[in-house]
Amino acid sequence: MAFLNNHHTKDEDDRIQILPELDVWSVIRKIALSGVQENPFYVCDVPDLIRKYQNWKKTMPRVTTHYAVKCNDSRIVLETLAALGIGFDCASEGEIRKVLSLGVHPSRIVYANPTKKESYLKYAAAVGVDLMTFDNEHELYKIKSFHPNAKLLIRIKCDDLTALYVFGEKYGCDYETEAADLLKTAFSLDLNVVGVAFHIGSGSKNFSIFKSAFAAARHVFDEAAKVGYDFNLLDIGGGFPGEKCTSIKEIGGIINEAIEEYFPDPTVRITSEPGRYYVNSAFTLVTSIHSLKATKTQTNERSYAYYVDVGVYGGLIPILFDENYSFQPLNTKIGGELYPTVIWGPTCDSWDKLAKNILLPKLNSGDWLVVEDAGAYTVAMSFEFNGMDTPKVHSVIDENNWKYLTQEVPFPMAVEKFVRGTTLDNYRTGLSSSNKFRTNYF
Ligand SMILES: *Cc1c(COP(=O)(O)O)cnc(C)c1O
Repeated sequence: MAFLNNHHTKDEDDRIQILPELDVWSVIRKIALSGVQENPFYVCDVPDLIRKYQNWKKTMPRVTTHYAVKCNDSRIVLETLAALGIGFDCASEGEIRKVLSLGVHPSRIVYANPTKKESYLKYAAAVGVDLMTFDNEHELYKIKSFHPNAKLLIRIKCDDLTALYVFGEKYGCDYETEAADLLKTAFSLDLNVVGVAFHIGSGSKNFSIFKSAFAAARHVFDEAAKVGYDFNLLDIGGGFPGEKCTSIKEIGGIINEAIEEYFPDPTVRITSEPGRYYVNSAFTLVTSIHSLKATKTQTNERSYAYYVDVGVYGGLIPILFDENYSFQPLNTKIGGELYPTVIWGPTCDSWDKLAKNILLPKLNSGDWLVVEDAGAYTVAMSFEFNGMDTPKVHSVIDENNWKYLTQEVPFPMAVEKFVRGTTLDNYRTGLSSSNKFRTNYF
């Protein structure tokens, strides 16, 4: 199968459209109803990324961030977060390269993959990415050979087993039975271990797990002191929710309390690696129905099946891992009776199923469906399976945030990154290169 990761080609126009006021749904209407848009697309609400940043800082003032690039590696996301001055969590040479290409200093990167390929490790050493994680002895010998001056974080296991993606089976050493021995080995190799990292799991709901994670980290800090290390960095990973209407207030409370209890010493730096928190609500996916069938349910009720042009391979792959999305008709005037509905993606694969047993009004070919909270693990994991086009991104910002990003942030964005004005061309920035036109044949 061809994993064509070509959704960010060099010549892609990823400038941001400045609007006097920002309302994502009216932006979507402008584009979808322009008459010249057939392909599915995303709208990226750049101010939403900025609000996430500000909200994080306010909620957890002692916790800095390294954004997890794997969650959404769109240039627009990376550039905005780079401008705000936060760091990045990278897992490969490719991700490090991408982040460095934005002019980000290597000291802002944590190479948070505990198992690194030799050539990637050499690359990290060559470009000065020094902070990295490990969780096994073999990795320590590799680091000793290829990046002996690295600053290391020992990754420990602390899982919320109810998370959608649990990492403990794959990553992290046991903080009680394995950590001390690993630290002794590292010490004997003269390696510089500076702290602890953990990740409670992605798509978690049980945030009280942070308490036991902090306790475990404290335990490892104390073990490290016995070995001869003086740790000064704790990385609390990701797993923070990022959908509209979710809040990190409660989690923030748990974390702030745990910091007070276990790490009151302000010289210990605390950082994190949120992915979905930053990007999920900033992206809205818009897709249209190109085919449909009238069907019957098992109890002989009328029902419908719709075929849309982006499916699990083109953007909504988290559906395969049990995530749910809601599909809202763009035309809110459609009313009347609701029918049991199945929504299928465009590929000829039976797993490419987006929703079943949902209730929707009767829709037609050409009607658009809007999927909110579509920024996490979507754009970054889409590919052209079966030759289907993948959605492109149109980014928008309001005047105030444009001023903020170009003038007030630590690393201001270039004015050439923006287009101003409400012409159709501007509304289609980022989208026009690959689009096809639709003829209304009804
Ligand atoms: C995937 C990943 C993250 C991001 O997780 P979210 O749940 O998206 O916040 C952070 N750190 C590491 C090491 C990861 O693998």
